[in-house]
Amino acid sequence: MIVLGIESSCDETAVALVKDKKEVLSSIVASQIDVHKEFGGVVPEVASRIHVENISYCIEAALKEANCTMEDVDVVAVTKGPGLIGCLHVGVQAAKALAFAYHKPLVPVHHLAAHIYANELVVEMKYPLLALVVSGGNTELVYMKDETSFEILGETQDDAIGEAYDKVARVLGLGYPGGPKIDKMAKEGKPVYELAKPKTQGRYDFSFSGLKSSVLQFTKRMERQGQTYDLNDLACSFQECALDEIFSRIHFALDDHPEIEHFVVGGGVSANSRLREKVEELKKEYPNITFTVPPMSCCTDNAGMIAVAGTIAYRSGRRADDSLTADASWEIQ
Ligand code: ATP
Ligand code: MG
Ligand code: FE
Repeated sequence: MIVLGIESSCDETAVALVKDKKEVLSSIVASQIDVHKEFGGVVPEVASRIHVENISYCIEAALKEANCTMEDVDVVAVTKGPGLIGCLHVGVQAAKALAFAYHKPLVPVHHLAAHIYANELVVEMKYPLLALVVSGGNTELVYMKDETSFEILGETQDDAIGEAYDKVARVLGLGYPGGPKIDKMAKEGKPVYELAKPKTQGRYDFSFSGLKSSVLQFTKRMERQGQTYDLNDLACSFQECALDEIFSRIHFALDDHPEIEHFVVGGGVSANSRLREKVEELKKEYPNITFTVPPMSCCTDNAGMIAVAGTIAYRSGRRADDSLTADASWEIQ
């Protein structure tokens, strides 16, 4: 079964063709980073307009790269939400047009579920499963007792982790998106600076806004005192603090749910090299659990993961008709 996936929830216009949930026949990602970095972050109205300009080209390019026509496609899957509403509408309308014109089933997909299902491209996912979603807009621990059930155990009480990376990078004058830059600099630094440890109430919840402010206050204090500081060390101190917060919650969740068979990570921050290292360390602590991180090409937004999620949703019977509309805050399903 060949599924064509469409993603336009934020600042990537992406289209991919995936065969049988495993084989990526093509994956086109038109990133708008170069435009948004001028503004230091994503400007929603600008993003929607660029999606309109890019979407048709991306569909054509994905079909061509896969050496397919629409006749070969069995299902059209599209991100219905969550995301920026104007951006989502572009992908949803394109998917509806394709499904209508070529008489194909139309399947709406949840963006965060798709970040989780990206791991299917590496290995068959086993349940019960614990997923850590770490992206630009979300930080969540999700318990899945089977392939189509989602229970949010904990989530961020303020900023998402990717957002914290991006905001800290802005404070340090590194530009957008900050995640990959901080990742690189942290490798050259040591975690020598003491920053505010995040405080949360829920056992599995996260908080990153205090940590982010702590970095800002640190730089101001040093400047006021006429002292210099090492940017690599500061990047490393921030990253260690943020990841310690995340991994302490993973430990809680794994220890509280001994039935878990598989742990996966999803979302843009799963590209982080230190996070991937720490997942390797976890493997040794929990030898009975399978640990998986998505391929680097499927960490940040892409449509391969939408096609995979579309395959799973289609097989479970999900369908939409031409009344399908985008939902900026759609609940995970
Ligand atoms: P969401 O998925 O919550 O809707 P999004 O789609 O905007 O948000 P993603 O594309 O999943 O987010 O991820 C983008 C985020 O990942 C950015 O915040 C970026 O800084 C972060 N990121 C990317 N690479 C790395 C890295 N190597 N280290 C840390 N963060 C990273
Ligand atoms: Mg993006
Ligand atoms: Fe995303």
